[in-house]
Amino acid sequence: IKTVEPNTIKTTCAYCGVGCGITATVHDVDKRLITVQGDEQHPSNFGRLCSKGTALADTLTLDDRLLSPMYKGEKISWDRAIKETADQFNTIIQQHGPDAVAFYISGQLLTEDYYVANKLMKGFIGSSNIDTNSRLCMASPTVAHKRAFGSDTVPGCYDDFDHAELIVLTGSNTAWCHPIIFQRIKKAKENNPALKVVVIDPRETETCAIADLHLPIQSGTDAFLFNGLLAQLSKAQKLDLDYIDQNVEGFVDTLSSAIESASDIRNVADICGLSEADIHTFYEWFSGTNKVISAYSQGINQSSSGTDKVNAIINVHLATGRIGKIGAGPFSLTGQPNAMGGREVGGLANQLAAHMDFTEDNINRLSRFWQSDVVSSSPGLKAVDLFDAIEDGRVKAVWIMATSPVDSLPNANKVKTALEKCQFVAVSDCMQHTDTTQYAHMLLPALGWGEKDGTVTNSERRISRQRAVLPAPGEAKSDWWIITQVAKAMGFEKSFPYQSAHEIFKEHTQLSAFENTLDIDDSTLTKRDFNLSALTTLNQQQYHKLTPIQWPVTSESPKGTTRMFEDGYYFTPSGKAQMITVVPRQPKAPLSKEYPLILNTGRIRDQWHTMSRTALAPQLNNHKAEPFVELHPADATRHNIADGELVLASTAYGEMIARADVNKGQKPGHIFIPMHWTEQLSSKGRVGALVNPATDPLSGQPESKHTPAMVKPY
Ligand code: SF4
Repeated sequence: IKTVEPNTIKTTCAYCGVGCGITATVHDVDKRLITVQGDEQHPSNFGRLCSKGTALADTLTLDDRLLSPMYKGEKISWDRAIKETADQFNTIIQQHGPDAVAFYISGQLLTEDYYVANKLMKGFIGSSNIDTNSRLCMASPTVAHKRAFGSDTVPGCYDDFDHAELIVLTGSNTAWCHPIIFQRIKKAKENNPALKVVVIDPRETETCAIADLHLPIQSGTDAFLFNGLLAQLSKAQKLDLDYIDQNVEGFVDTLSSAIESASDIRNVADICGLSEADIHTFYEWFSGTNKVISAYSQGINQSSSGTDKVNAIINVHLATGRIGKIGAGPFSLTGQPNAMGGREVGGLANQLAAHMDFTEDNINRLSRFWQSDVVSSSPGLKAVDLFDAIEDGRVKAVWIMATSPVDSLPNANKVKTALEKCQFVAVSDCMQHTDTTQYAHMLLPALGWGEKDGTVTNSERRISRQRAVLPAPGEAKSDWWIITQVAKAMGFEKSFPYQSAHEIFKEHTQLSAFENTLDIDDSTLTKRDFNLSALTTLNQQQYHKLTPIQWPVTSESPKGTTRMFEDGYYFTPSGKAQMITVVPRQPKAPLSKEYPLILNTGRIRDQWHTMSRTALAPQLNNHKAEPFVELHPADATRHNIADGELVLASTAYGEMIARADVNKGQKPGHIFIPMHWTEQLSSKGRVGALVNPATDPLSGQPESKHTPAMVKPY
C-alpha cells in the first residue's frame, strides 16, 4: 500500500479497458475542483494517461445531472421510487412470470454493482434476462475463450507487449481506442527496433503510424486470413507439434478445414482484398518469430462470425505453442473499464456468476451459496433479442442502468419503439437528459465517476479500486445501493443485507472460491479459472487499501497471476486446449445496388460512448466537432460528394446527416462513421439507427462493422 498525500486519492479511469490508474487531488470539494494525473505506481499505465483520462477533472460539472428520483417527470422521494419500482416489477412477475422483466446494464458499472444486479435477476427473480452493453463489445471473445480454453480467460498481460518481437493488431485502432497500450508498443519499438508491428484493418488508421506492414483487409474476411496462416504454418513445418501433442485437442480437424478454406494464398488475397506479397510477408514474419502477440478488438468481435474469427486467431497461437509464454499470446483488448468485471459476476445473459456456465452442478452450487431455490436454470435474452422481446411485448418491464441503448444498439429506432411500448421502464443514470432517459417512467439518480466506490477489472485481468474522490451530489446513490433497496422492497431482504461495497466484494470473492477445487474423486467439483480465494478475508480497511492485482488470487498465487496457461493446463474436462474448426463466413447482409457501400462504425480519439461525460470537457470537443463520414476519394467521385459537404448516409434501417471527410485512408467501398453522437447532441447524427441488427449466432454480438449503406449529397 503506497502512502499518498491526505487530499490525493488513487483511483482508475472511467473509460477504456486499459484501466489506467489515476491519482486525483481534491482542491475544493464544494466547487468539485480536482486535478488528475496518471498513477506512476499503477502497473497498467505507469503514470501515462491519454487525452480522455487527462480531461476527467473537467467533466465533473453538475449541469444536467440527475439529482433526485423522478417518476413520470415529477420529483419523488427515494422511498417512493424504490417502492414503485419494486411494486411494478413484482406485479408483472406475478401476472406474467419472471421472464417478463429484464435488466439491461453496462460495463460502466463497478463489479459490486454488477454483482448485486445479477444476483437479484438470476438468483431471486429467477430469470436470466439480464444483459449488458458488453454484449456489443466482448461477447465474441468470451465464447471463443470458453471454446478454446474451457474458460473466459485472457492468457497474457500488458507486460507481454514489452517483450514481443512481432505484434499483430487486428481490428483495433489501438492509437485511438486503447492509447496507453499504443504508447507502450511505440516505446517497445523504440527500445527494440527489431520489433515488427502488423496492422490488419480496412482503414489506414492512426495506428498505422507504427506499422511495418498494414493489411487493408476487406471487411469481414479475417477468418480466411488466419485460416490461411494456419495452413501456411503447417506447410512450412512451423507448427509446435510437441506442444500440440501435450496440450491441444482438435488439431487434425481444424488444420484440414483451414487447408480446405484457405491453403491457396492467391485465393486468400482475392477474398481479403490484399496483395499476395503482403500476405506472404505477414505469414513469414509470423512463422519466423516466436514471441508474437495477436491483439484484437471490435473489428474482429463485432461480426456475425466474431466468435469464429477469435478462434481462428487463437488456433494459430495454440498450434505454434505461442501462448502462456512471455511476449506471446492472443490478446483481447476490451472496450470498457469493467467489461471484464461484468463477465466475472455473470452480467451476460448466457452465463452465471463467477464464470460458471448453466450446468446443473453450477445451478445447484449457486442455489446453495445464495440459499435460493429459484436460481435461473437457462440463459436469458441477449441484448438485441432482449429489445426485440420488449418491442413485441414478451418483456413488459426493463431496468436500464448506466447506458443508452437508444443510441448504441443496432437498429436503434426499433429500440425507441420498444421503450415507447414497454409497460414500465426504469433508468438509473447520472444524467437527466439522454436519448434513453426520455423513455423512462422512473429515473433513479446514480453516482458518476469520482463519486463511486468499488472495483473494476481491466483487459489484463487486473482488479483495481475505483475510489470516491467527491461526495455524492444531491440525492444520487451508488448503483449497488439502489439495486439492494429495490431487492429488499421486492421481498428479498435477507439476501441483500449490504451496507458497503466491501461487503459485496467479499461475497463475490467467497463465491469465486466456493467449491472451486480440482477433485478427481468427485465429478461435481471442477476447477474454475476465476478464483479470488486469497482475498476472501479482506477486511474493510484492507479493501479500502487494495492495490491492483491480477486474478486468479489464490494460496498458490497470493500476489495474483501475471500470465495464464504457463503450465499448459486449460480449464477443459481433459485439461487440454481446444483448436476449433473455423469455416469462414462472409458478413450476413450482402451489398446491393441500393446500398453498395460497407458502413463501419467505431470510436474516435477524444470521445467516449455517447459523450455524456467527454462532451463536458471543451478540449475534447475540439478534436472532431460533429458527426462525419469518412469515404475514399473514388467513392466520393462516384457519389458526387465533395470533401466537407453535408451528406445523407442511409441503410435499410435508418438515415443520418454528417459531414463528408474524403480520405485516402478509407478502403474503397467502405465508409466509416463514429458511434458517439446522440440525438441530444446532433438531431440527425445518430449512427446506431443505421446499423443492421445481424448478430453472431454463438455470442449474440451485433455486426456493427458491416452494414450495406449509401451516401449522397444532402
Ligand atoms: Fe487509460 Fe483508456 Fe483512460 Fe485513456 S481512456 S487514460 S487509455 S483507461
